[in-house]
Amino acid sequence: MDSLFADLPTDDESTIRHEGLFTSVAIEDSLDKLLDYSVPAKFASALRVGQRVKVPLGRGNRATYGYVIAIANVSSYPRVKPILDIEDERVLLNEKMMELARWMSRYYCSPLGSVIDSIIPAAVKKKTGLGYLKIVRLTKTVAEIQDFIEKTKRKKQQRVMAHLLQLPHGSVIDAHRLADECECGLAVVKSLQQGGYISITEEADLPGFTADCQPTGGTETDMKLNEDQQKVIDELLPRVKENAFSVNLLLGVTGSGKTEVYLQCIREVVARGKQAIVMVPEIALTPQTVRRFTLRFPRIAILHSGLSNTDRHRYWQQIATGQADVIIGARSAVFAPVPNLGMMIVDEEHESSYKQDSSPRYHGRDVAIMRSKIENVPVLLGSATPSLESYHRAYEGESKAAAASPDIAKPVQHLLELPRRVRGLSMPKVELIDMRQEQSIRKSQHLISMRLEKLLKETLALGQQAIILLNRRGYSNFVYCPSCQSPMHCKYCDTTMTYHRSVDSDARNSTIAESVHTGQMHCHYCLAIKPLPPVCPDCKKKLTLFGLGTQKVEEELLRKFPDLKYARVDSDTMHTTGQYESILAQFANKEIDVMLGTQVIAKGLDYPNVTLVGVVSGDTALALPDFRAAERTFQLITQVAGRAGRGDQPGRVVLQTFLPEDPTIQAALKQDYVGFANVELGHRRSTHLPPFGRMVRIVVRDQELPHLEMIADELSQQLAHAIAAQGNKVEMNGPAPAAIARIAGYYRYQIILKAPRSDSLQNVLAKVREEGRFAKTDRIAVDVDPVSLL
Ligand code: ADP
Ligand code: ZN
Repeated sequence: MDSLFADLPTDDESTIRHEGLFTSVAIEDSLDKLLDYSVPAKFASALRVGQRVKVPLGRGNRATYGYVIAIANVSSYPRVKPILDIEDERVLLNEKMMELARWMSRYYCSPLGSVIDSIIPAAVKKKTGLGYLKIVRLTKTVAEIQDFIEKTKRKKQQRVMAHLLQLPHGSVIDAHRLADECECGLAVVKSLQQGGYISITEEADLPGFTADCQPTGGTETDMKLNEDQQKVIDELLPRVKENAFSVNLLLGVTGSGKTEVYLQCIREVVARGKQAIVMVPEIALTPQTVRRFTLRFPRIAILHSGLSNTDRHRYWQQIATGQADVIIGARSAVFAPVPNLGMMIVDEEHESSYKQDSSPRYHGRDVAIMRSKIENVPVLLGSATPSLESYHRAYEGESKAAAASPDIAKPVQHLLELPRRVRGLSMPKVELIDMRQEQSIRKSQHLISMRLEKLLKETLALGQQAIILLNRRGYSNFVYCPSCQSPMHCKYCDTTMTYHRSVDSDARNSTIAESVHTGQMHCHYCLAIKPLPPVCPDCKKKLTLFGLGTQKVEEELLRKFPDLKYARVDSDTMHTTGQYESILAQFANKEIDVMLGTQVIAKGLDYPNVTLVGVVSGDTALALPDFRAAERTFQLITQVAGRAGRGDQPGRVVLQTFLPEDPTIQAALKQDYVGFANVELGHRRSTHLPPFGRMVRIVVRDQELPHLEMIADELSQQLAHAIAAQGNKVEMNGPAPAAIARIAGYYRYQIILKAPRSDSLQNVLAKVREEGRFAKTDRIAVDVDPVSLL
């Protein structure tokens, strides 16, 4: 139908050629092909690409929904049916968003309909909260109406028609308002419709829907930049003004003032009458960042997960009509329907929460780069610990630029640096505590080292605050029988269960000795919960709780500091956005002295009174069977360390570890990103891992192991075929059991595809996709550029 869709499978089994008006529709279900429909004459003039339409599907002609992808005058589809309705008059995806959707469908190997489904919020599709008006229009000529007014005996009808005649030519009015203004009932207006003098149609009240959007505050002026920031801005602003695509990586240490750079770029974007999209890892965790934007700009839309459906829809409509200058949100903000994009900013670009873990498995940062390319605008990625992918690209980009002669086209990847903290503040001082030594000199087991305990005491005495990080929630990560040597496993997963103390037992009052266990065992993968058996089910011996979690640190902290004002922040204690916000507010007001939590507390917090950060177990993540384990560990430690010493008092960080010589721990100790990146990139280069090669992970799951083995084998044969047909540029590993071989009752096998270039992988995937092999999305998950291999 259109050469652009050459990559998508279509039905062209015959040479049938219908003429008339046709539309190619992407069905919302996960159907991986476009279907042609004919367009009845009554819809012909209103139909647009990007609209949502109602269409019949399958033998039973079940009514379903889809999006108009193309409109054409011919169709070779043999059994073409008419569309049923235009479900929404609005063009939900403009041309550029449509291009982005098509790229995502191809690149992430996901049906176009489900890609568009994830671009358009459900509240917009359902038109949640949208009011409707009964719009009245005249249907006769002015002379005919005047004739009617003169002749009729019905006073009320006469009044209504006279009123309509007085309206400016071509304008319309709501039936209720018309009745009110003419002091008559709605029945009078309706009787005129029956008489054929007027028409009444239900129309969405879009202007009314967004009418109450008023700018709030946003008058704060820009800060005076320091020398480093000025240098960065001097390089960035010309690119913002130029209206050209470029990728810019801002590598700025924690507390170097990256946000101020974002704000001043946006100032330029807004001054040019355009919009900026700012992506943050999670809105609830970054209230301070968000506040800095709302203080600076009045017309701002904040897309947080706590929005009601009506508000979500209202914001979407406001954004689509250009009523917001700055849009801030998490991953899905990348799809904000701004009419005139000026720039995209991705803060903390290394965060893995930008990757969606259900289909389409897209990476928000990479989609932001592609959208910027399509819209021809700059994109700015910021981080103190960039992903090695971004750092490598930017670093290469800069060195190519340096080597190239001036007449060679500029590279589009730039590296910008803020190497120092603002206001001459020093980087926090990190001390390493070897927990092996600590254990050998202390009688009982302590999770908090003597050094950390001492510094915490000093910090509290000075009225300063602390953050303590432990990257695992729950109480203990194993429930273990010392006699038969077996940990308790989840019945449905290939994982051990984590013991959680019961929620209502207050850590302060409970005296949990290992003999009195109240609480339950949780599986962190399938969320199953089981009571803790009083004794080992096999040998009837007493069970031991082994390993550590935030609850256990909490207990020890309270033993050591009985009067501590603290909060535990992890996904067990924080269930709503409001809870996070209130804890952060209490921390800001110093009602809380210590925040203890998982990685959620490592993100972007900027509290000047925090002078101590303790990392209870710096190496927890290092042993994970994932090639990014070192990168994650370095990022986490550096990010949480960066929360210390952001005010006038210098910051201290205590890094406890059982692996003091590990190079990643050593690099984190020095907070030396470039040093870490160079060593780690060396490993990646020699093993051809990303960024020196691309990867696709395919996970196949089934409840029956023999059946799973069969489909995994079939799939791998098909892949092998496609790989051979493409000239063997792709390496295949597997099928083999995934690192977690069973989750929620499903056995899991994975196949890893690797290639030096992304297009070879794309070609192989496209070939297998064409054969319909990936159609069962509930059983086969294709993950392009995976961020987790567990
Ligand atoms: P980052 O995002 O790099 O960690 P922030 O942007 O949060 O750093 O800046 C840290 C703090 O420094 C903030 O409180 C910010 O208001 C302040 N700041 C930023 N730029 C300047 C400047 N030029 N002069 C003084 N303070 C600044
Ligand atoms: Zn489980």
